[in-house]
Amino acid sequence: MTDANSAIVTYSPAYTIVPTYDCFNRCTYCNFRTNPGESPWLTLSAAAEILKRLKNEKVCEILILSGEVHPNSPQRQTWFQRIYDLCALALAMGFLPHTNAGPLSFAEMQKLKNVNVSMGLMLEQLTPALLKTVHRQAPSKVPELRLQQLQWSGELQIPFTTGLLLGIGETADDCWETVEAISHIHQSYHHIQEVILQPHSPGNQQKFDAPPFDPHQLPAVISKARQILPAEITIQIPPNLVKDEQWLLACIEAGARDLGGIGPIDEVNPDYPHIQEQELKEILQPARWELVPRLPVYPQFDSWLSKELQIVVSHWRKIFTSTSVL
Ligand code: SF4
Repeated sequence: MTDANSAIVTYSPAYTIVPTYDCFNRCTYCNFRTNPGESPWLTLSAAAEILKRLKNEKVCEILILSGEVHPNSPQRQTWFQRIYDLCALALAMGFLPHTNAGPLSFAEMQKLKNVNVSMGLMLEQLTPALLKTVHRQAPSKVPELRLQQLQWSGELQIPFTTGLLLGIGETADDCWETVEAISHIHQSYHHIQEVILQPHSPGNQQKFDAPPFDPHQLPAVISKARQILPAEITIQIPPNLVKDEQWLLACIEAGARDLGGIGPIDEVNPDYPHIQEQELKEILQPARWELVPRLPVYPQFDSWLSKELQIVVSHWRKIFTSTSVL
């Protein structure tokens, strides 16, 4: 948890590994997917090469971010095993894996818990109206399916990150209902560590012809979400999608306290380069905000992890020991 009254803003030094861009959904705002069969899957040896290069950099989180294979596809098991093996490899090399690969079965989540320090899935928006528009060809964006993931992660004691995608056709009331649903489910399991508020930011690949969510509205959204969400849930915003420095500061003033994973590429929004650590510090410091790195698992969840995972986590906590939130 990051104290909303403190002057600390966190980020995760991260690198995103993509097992495959292939995805059977066709969300019209997507700038990530390829058609199934179009992009080769990442091999373990190629991943090992990437991870070896990262050993000398200050990267602790490996975000495993994948396009989805249909649950009934004959390729599902191979896809899942590749994700599992990539997590296990990253872990064995001393990194902290966090997987976001769309809706999973209970058994898949249970297995991935062994090789992930936390996991994530955006709720985006719960209104079923979007199934007729941006999610018309996206079967895994059925709201109940995604809410069920939040429930299962709670039952399995998996520290979880979720969030909203803003500006994809929802009303303001839809937005608050989604935030309230997150708050409600958290009160049963106390497992949500962060909620991301992500403004829709058009990219070159997408078909959805709509303006970006106005980042100038973000502070008000953050402020209201902060009132709805329990204090122990941190609000995260992606700084590369809030171009204006003053409005980034306004978002922090409104209650956002985390800037998410910062790495070379934002795979979900490849047209919006990440702002790197030094530049972020230069924006935050004059306003007396201190930017500090964090792990992809918050300290209050360490006891939920296996002994093997706890050893790697504790190693990273020692490395980042100079910071008070780790
Ligand atoms: S947004 Fe995610 S689920 Fe939707 S098409 Fe893109 S990769 Fe697939």
